[in-house]
Amino acid sequence: MQDNKPPRDPQDWRPATRLVHGGTMRSQFGETSEALFLTQGYVYPSMEAAEARFKGDEPGFVYSRYNNPTNAMFEERMALLEGAETARGTASGMAAVTAALLAPLKAGDHVVASRALFGSCLYIVQELLPRYGIATTLVDGKDLNAWKAALQPQTQTLFLESPTNPGLEVYDIAAIAGIAHDYGARLVVDNAFASPILQKPLQLGADCVVYSATKHIDGQGRCLGGVVLSTREFIETHIQTYLRQTGPALSPFNAWVMLKSLETLPLRVNQQMANAGRIADFLANHPLVSRCTYPGRADHPQAEIVRRQMAGGGTLVAFDLAGGKPAAFAFANALSIIKISNNLGDAKSLITHPATTTHQRLTPEARAEMGIGDGMLRLSVGLEDAEDLLADLGAALAVLESKPMAAE
Ligand SMILES: *Cc1c(COP(=O)(O)O)cnc(C)c1O
Repeated sequence: MQDNKPPRDPQDWRPATRLVHGGTMRSQFGETSEALFLTQGYVYPSMEAAEARFKGDEPGFVYSRYNNPTNAMFEERMALLEGAETARGTASGMAAVTAALLAPLKAGDHVVASRALFGSCLYIVQELLPRYGIATTLVDGKDLNAWKAALQPQTQTLFLESPTNPGLEVYDIAAIAGIAHDYGARLVVDNAFASPILQKPLQLGADCVVYSATKHIDGQGRCLGGVVLSTREFIETHIQTYLRQTGPALSPFNAWVMLKSLETLPLRVNQQMANAGRIADFLANHPLVSRCTYPGRADHPQAEIVRRQMAGGGTLVAFDLAGGKPAAFAFANALSIIKISNNLGDAKSLITHPATTTHQRLTPEARAEMGIGDGMLRLSVGLEDAEDLLADLGAALAVLESKPMAAE
């Protein structure tokens, strides 16, 4: 393994260049595409070398639960993309969220989080942490006073995702980071919905960013993965030992797939977003759609925050059909190009009914509080031709028009 450093500092490269070349380490064979090091362990030239590497006196790899050259390339490329000092890959987005929340905390600490969270994130905050003596308070993420009012002397971490799943609410990351810092706490942001192309939480003041790389970063429905990004100090103090010893390691194969996916991430996200904008305008103007939420539209309730903190409205559209669950089911069943699936950020357009899938665990009251009605659908817009997607949506709406049905 030789370290063929590029002639110029990658920090001087613009984002697209970082995504193609950042983090690349070439082996002695000079391969063009990044190599896949599918190995559990490493051999040492001597016992002395093994001793030195274990002690940290010599650089090099020890065991793939700790690190792996392919994973290291993925982590470095992610750090360059995000503008973070360092990054650590994980087996899934939930492994990244769990590490960022659990690893720095101890019994007696307190966490404040927005109520509108991805279902598994809500489980970590609401059920898992309290079992180990870490109290949590859930707030309406839009309400800055609610964040302030929830702070306690033991508050260590504030946690949010924005835009939220599935309601696509947008929270003021800079203001909430300010509230955290005034109190000596940290802000962790789950940036999966915005993607690293459209929103940079660290630049807005967040202390740690987590991704489900399963979503836009893979973007082609193949691999699970996650990543935690922060300062070297935060990662080395809180995250690194936790990941090494508890073992949610990213598979080098998945790291390789996602490393290659990063090369095309801006192209994919920008094209999916262009498609999503056209679809949102179409749905917002359709008589059977009672509400259409898209962060890129001027009628989004937090449009002003979107302009300040996002480079566009994203790839997801949420909308409500006036006919409730029967209408939502009949509509989605009538689609042909757009597939029924709970994943998102994919090249394929995917639609899901949150009330009966991702959020069915919640009570109807809790769903109502999150704005998840029985007629709500969440559409993750893909890379198909927008004209074909509009035709698919139009045909499915026409089916509803031809057989009007009463809400349940
Ligand atoms: C999908 C998702 C996760 C979990 O990621 P996995 O890779 O499925 O573990 C966490 N947060 C958000 C916002 C997500 O969309």
